[in-house]
Amino acid sequence: MRRWVPVSLALLLGVLIARPAHAERPLYSTEADVRLAPQMHAALQRIARRFHERTGRWIHVTSGTRTAGQQADAMYEKLVRGQRLTRLYRDFEAASAIQQAYRDHRRQGRGRCIAAMRRVIEQQVARGCYISRHLVESAADVRSRDLSRRERAVFRQVVAEVGGVSLLEEGTPPHFHLQLR
Ligand SMILES: [Zn+2]
Repeated sequence: MRRWVPVSLALLLGVLIARPAHAERPLYSTEADVRLAPQMHAALQRIARRFHERTGRWIHVTSGTRTAGQQADAMYEKLVRGQRLTRLYRDFEAASAIQQAYRDHRRQGRGRCIAAMRRVIEQQVARGCYISRHLVESAADVRSRDLSRRERAVFRQVVAEVGGVSLLEEGTPPHFHLQLR
């Protein structure tokens, strides 16, 4: 029996040594252009692992750190669907300015309209005003429309357990917006 001890020990060490490299690999899938800061990646790893343990499913990240252009794109999609930015974002003035750029340019087509919105966001960022936490590497969106009611409840629990992250549920398209505290 004693012969097994070194073998098990070696196996255990092997597992321990192999673990850090394995842990680096994302435990979640993402859209092609998603960029995430190391701290957000670490939080998502913890959430994804626990969520998988309890549901057998992996989470899918649809958005992470955004450039001003990507932020304009995301806001354009909301406006096209009839949403008002002034109701979605806390900074009323900043949201109104972006919304105004949309109204002024929407007849010129999607590309030009998003470019006009991007310029407004860039000007805001230049003076230290960030309409969204996605602009400062501290937010990520997780898809929720393919999750069952129970899975969504588990996700909320897991985020609360993991800590350090606040959760907001947003409607179009349905997703969980996570923010580092
Ligand atoms: Zn978000």
